Amino acid sequence: MRPIPVVKAKNLAEALGYLADGGKPLAGGTDLLVAIRKGLEDPKLLVYVGELPELRVVQELAEGLEVGAALTHAELLAHPASERLPILREVLRTIGSPAIRAMGTLGGNLVTASPAGDSLVALYLLEARVRLVGPEGERELPVREFIVGPRKTALKNGELVRCVFLPYPEGQPHSFFRKVGRRRALVIAVASLGALVWVRSGRVERARLALGSVAPTVLRPQEVEEALVGRPVVPEAWVDLVPLLSATTHPISDLRASADYRRKVAGALLLDLANHLARL
Ligand SMILES: Cc1cc2nc3c(=O)[nH]c(=O)nc-3n(C[C@H](O)[C@H](O)[C@H](O)COP(=O)(O)OP(=O)(O)OC[C@H]3O[C@@H](n4cnc5c(N)ncnc54)[C@H](O)[C@@H]3O)c2cc1C
Repeated sequence: MRPIPVVKAKNLAEALGYLADGGKPLAGGTDLLVAIRKGLEDPKLLVYVGELPELRVVQELAEGLEVGAALTHAELLAHPASERLPILREVLRTIGSPAIRAMGTLGGNLVTASPAGDSLVALYLLEARVRLVGPEGERELPVREFIVGPRKTALKNGELVRCVFLPYPEGQPHSFFRKVGRRRALVIAVASLGALVWVRSGRVERARLALGSVAPTVLRPQEVEEALVGRPVVPEAWVDLVPLLSATTHPISDLRASADYRRKVAGALLLDLANHLARL
């Protein structure tokens, strides 16, 4: 493997200059360095962006939280501002291991755009907006438009993710995240389900669901979200939605699980959610 030069940009302008010359952003390196070792990526220059002050801002605004792309999962978990977004914390806690959470960043997880990217489940549930900066200035995209396919994003050459805006959900929804994998630690999801559920008088008032690892991108099963409205929060009242949820998925078979198994797990996770809510 040929050596790849790495530069550490002092500020955003310098980083954008290096990117314009064909550099590739490097944050925690937990995805990119693995991809380089496997020969899947061959950048001519790595531009370390992990310490750029412009990418490390956390701002509590009236309508939501702005989180710099270079914040690590561990830093976000330790930041008091993340307490207003319990779903984000539930998800981040499950990423990799303490070492991976100490190195891996929100921006890196987002740009890798894996269907199994755990933080994406929270970002889809919160209807996050991705703020990009490039030679032509800033632009913003909803996360659903930023992710265009498995490992494909709308990021243009020369652009960086500066931050992610996470709107606070209205009211007090219950948060839920469960991922199923082949072991308990360092788990890449075979299937995962995250949810924000607003409950009033024992019935679902509103629900947002997001499934990981069962489609080319994280999936919001809208039909199931709508069908849940008005249902009592007891698993028996949700059983007919299990096949409906499974039917919204488009999983692949790979070394971790078959497509059929992923479909079944996704359905079963809906009943886990019902059980969880029924116990509250
Ligand atoms: C052992 C192990 C376990 C893991 N477990 C999990 C897990 O449980 N769940 C999970 O979701 N992931 C997991 N991962 C994947 C990885 O740790 C995460 O995706 C992490 O968040 C990537 O962040 P990073 O900062 O390391 O990204 P990097 O590897 O530095 O970069 C990843 C990609 O993002 C780009 N990039 C980085 N920052 C920016 C930016 N600001 N703007 C534009 N592009 C940028 C890079 O150019 C590259 O293409 C695991 C990885 C390993 C090695």
